[in-house]
Amino acid sequence: MNILIAGAGPTGLTLGIELARRGIAVRVIDKATEYFEGSRGDGLQPRTLEVFEDLGVLDEVFAQGRAVPLLKIHVGGKFAGERRMADPVEPTPDIPYPNGWMIGQSRTERILRDKLAEYGVSVELGTAITGFTQSADAVTAELSTGESLRVDYLVGADGGRSFVRKHLGIPFEGTTDESIRMLLGDVAADGLDHEYGYWFGSQDNPMEGIVMTPLAGGDQFQFGTPIEGDTSLEGLQALVDKYAGPGTAKLRDLTWSTVWRPNVRLAAKFRVGRVFIAGDAAHVHPPTGGQGFNTGVQDAYNLAWKLADGREEVLATYETERRTNAKRVLGISEELMQKHVDGDESALDRGENTRQLDISYRDPADHRPLAPGDRAPDAPVTDAEGNKIRLFELLRGPHETLLRFSPTTPAAHPHTVDITSPEAFAIYHAQPGDEILIRPDGYLA
Ligand SMILES: Cc1cc2nc3c(=O)[nH]c(=O)nc-3n(C[C@H](O)[C@H](O)[C@H](O)COP(=O)(O)OP(=O)(O)OC[C@H]3O[C@@H](n4cnc5c(N)ncnc54)[C@H](O)[C@@H]3O)c2cc1C
Repeated sequence: MNILIAGAGPTGLTLGIELARRGIAVRVIDKATEYFEGSRGDGLQPRTLEVFEDLGVLDEVFAQGRAVPLLKIHVGGKFAGERRMADPVEPTPDIPYPNGWMIGQSRTERILRDKLAEYGVSVELGTAITGFTQSADAVTAELSTGESLRVDYLVGADGGRSFVRKHLGIPFEGTTDESIRMLLGDVAADGLDHEYGYWFGSQDNPMEGIVMTPLAGGDQFQFGTPIEGDTSLEGLQALVDKYAGPGTAKLRDLTWSTVWRPNVRLAAKFRVGRVFIAGDAAHVHPPTGGQGFNTGVQDAYNLAWKLADGREEVLATYETERRTNAKRVLGISEELMQKHVDGDESALDRGENTRQLDISYRDPADHRPLAPGDRAPDAPVTDAEGNKIRLFELLRGPHETLLRFSPTTPAAHPHTVDITSPEAFAIYHAQPGDEILIRPDGYLA
């Protein structure tokens, strides 16, 4: 089997690793001639951390990132208190990584590219997809380099303006809100303590202001504001002087800045025949709630094993599962966006539903506490040598896993975990003799 992935953002890279580690011939191309260096999606959600553990990149992500910082709130230039976007939560046996993690997108992408390279796959820069046709058994793609290639599947992970989506004629339904603009940039700030995040709100409307989030690995902050301004260093400095008070912070080393319009759009289809779309190509989000990056990673993780499987009934579930989820996530980020616009302070809190741990593909009519389609929770288990370890360590890898609770027969499935720990029984709501199959992407089959 061979697969072409158009786009080497987080979605394309995750998919590339997932396919390459299954021994599938994969090429990852990107139109850009150099890697993007902005921080953009800098918040990883707990579910993404679980996926990254499976992909073998979590240690590096932890080494290069940082915990969600405490935010020092200033109103009218005066310190008004401290708060967190989310209160830190202790890990539990079923949720090993309950808290988000901050790391600039360009760093995460570099980590993913390094992992992909371990499987012998390098991103082909300066290589755009410019056309394709498909038949019942193959896709023929045209590249900007003049090459034409025939593959089993094509995946468009080519971002919000996706060529692949447009070429398929799939409508991108939703809105671009012209009334809201976000000015964003990566910049260092002398005078601010890099251990903290900052909110500089105006005296008249404390919800109107600038957020500065420290970026791990250096001294920059991600600067963000819905206030009109220009993207130069002087432009950002003028806003900081106005909202934080002159002399509070001297900005320098602006390496990236942009004005960004919140888009809320969902593709009408995620697939036509042998061509799939994933990530921003399939759905775009406002930045509120930090879902865009994370949802793209989950798309890729859901799609990879299905492409490897290749059966039509399995492939068909990609769109049903992930489009339904994208719709739900768009609702969450849109609601948070509206709260920001309305000046509702609760918009600063990131609730349970942004962690993506509650993603489920279950039948809504199934009301059991744990049902097919739910995330497989972590649990304490014992490995073949009798060592106490975490179930997630045994789930690692591209295979599905059969959990057997106090079994009495020899194992027949090549990846079987026999469970005796009472804690794991409780987490899985299991009875002796139960068997639960876990999909390669960590959901109950
Ligand atoms: C300013 C900004 C702030 C953001 N903040 C957050 C945040 O806080 N949290 C969060 O979760 N998300 C955030 N996001 C969203 C996040 O950056 C995206 O959701 C994420 O990058 C999507 O990943 P992707 O791989 O699907 O697409 P992209 O990262 O857009 O990657 C697509 C790739 O495809 C390439 N490409 C395009 N056309 C072609 C072609 N024809 N052929 C080959 N390659 C092509 C592009 O060069 C690009 O490298 C933000 C986005 C922006 C712009």
